[in-house]
Amino acid sequence: MNYDVIIIGAGSMGMAAGYFLSTSGKKTLLLDACTPPHNKGSHHGETRIIRYAYGEGEEYVPFVLRAQELWNDLEKATGKQLFLQTGVLNVGKEHSDFIQNTISSAKKYSLPLDILSSKEVHNRWPGITLPNDFIGCFEPTSGVLKCEESIKAYQELAELNGATILTNSQVKDILIKDDRVTIKTDNQTFYSDALVVSAGAWSGSLLSMLDLELPLSPVRKTFAWFQADEKMYHQDHFPAFTFETPNGQYYGFPSIDGAGLKVGRHDGGDQIHPDESILPFGELPEDKGDLIHFLHQYMPKISQLQYGKTCMYTLTPDEDFIIDLHPNYSNVAIAAGFSGHGFKFSSAVGQALSQLILSGQYDIDLSPFSINRFKN
Ligand SMILES: Cc1cc2nc3c(=O)[nH]c(=O)nc-3n(C[C@H](O)[C@H](O)[C@H](O)COP(=O)(O)OP(=O)(O)OC[C@H]3O[C@@H](n4cnc5c(N)ncnc54)[C@H](O)[C@@H]3O)c2cc1C
Repeated sequence: MNYDVIIIGAGSMGMAAGYFLSTSGKKTLLLDACTPPHNKGSHHGETRIIRYAYGEGEEYVPFVLRAQELWNDLEKATGKQLFLQTGVLNVGKEHSDFIQNTISSAKKYSLPLDILSSKEVHNRWPGITLPNDFIGCFEPTSGVLKCEESIKAYQELAELNGATILTNSQVKDILIKDDRVTIKTDNQTFYSDALVVSAGAWSGSLLSMLDLELPLSPVRKTFAWFQADEKMYHQDHFPAFTFETPNGQYYGFPSIDGAGLKVGRHDGGDQIHPDESILPFGELPEDKGDLIHFLHQYMPKISQLQYGKTCMYTLTPDEDFIIDLHPNYSNVAIAAGFSGHGFKFSSAVGQALSQLILSGQYDIDLSPFSINRFKN
């Protein structure tokens, strides 16, 4: 069967790419090893934070602002609420890189950001207690995306545009000869003019089939929901948050639709192979221990664990993304290594992948995400 473009991996990035490519009239096939959205990759757990004043570096800001515009478009096109404007509170020591980048991103792009002392944070959200040398940077316009719902929304529109999505179809082999792409699953062979590889934690092994070795490390991550007093932690009056602490980086969400407060640790985690079964939540003492220790220190009114889950990050050495064309094949676009902060961008990543396939370029600078930064 012949297609204009085949996408390997119809998760966060791939499903969005499928939508944009199908919108441009390309005959598009998406292949996924599972049935997205699912809980075997990096996109489950109901919610993801989106913030614009970006602690990881101001080079991300134009890209995330585009992503938010595209999320708004997706909401309009489907009539679904995918974004909740809860605001995001970034907490840490004033001189930490993350806090300084957050403040400088806001200044450079004129983004609203309230800078609050530890006392002001506590007065505004009595559920948070901070040491005196911490500050809070509250971004009122940002918030939370419903991750599985967002993937379903792009799926719905891509299918309406005529894209074909084949689930439970794991790609086993990729061959490119004279610009012609051949893709094999266990029992089918497909052909196309162009290819997108957006296979999350599995991208490394798939790209080796195209003689490209990228420094990608899949890591086991855990997160959990805790019982929370709705008067204090409900989404209408409590923000999503990130914390830079001397004992690690944490993030979390208000209680949404009565689910409880969700919290996870961003740094750390054991390197894994994505094909091996992942230890369930609670099997390692730090799964619960880290979160309980964090809450005890900064949100001491919360202690009762409800349940937890595992998920995967795919880290690059600098924790910046990879969004680029294959160095040897100009008809292959790659999106990988989202290092635990990629979901918020996935709408714009989908648009970028589509543009890279259609014209070889994107109107936002993708050079921070290029493959050649790993040359040395
Ligand atoms: C616990 C946790 C919390 C996070 N919090 C945030 C947050 O608050 N904000 C934020 O922006 N980001 C966050 N992230 C990061 C974000 O979710 C990821 O960066 C993003 O989901 C990665 O998308 P992806 O498309 O690369 O991978 P996925 O969404 O996992 O998609 C990859 C797809 O490829 C498929 N696939 C793999 N191999 C094959 C094959 N051989 N053939 C066919 N299909 C294949 C898989 O089945 C999967 O569906 C978080 C991640 C985790 C795990």
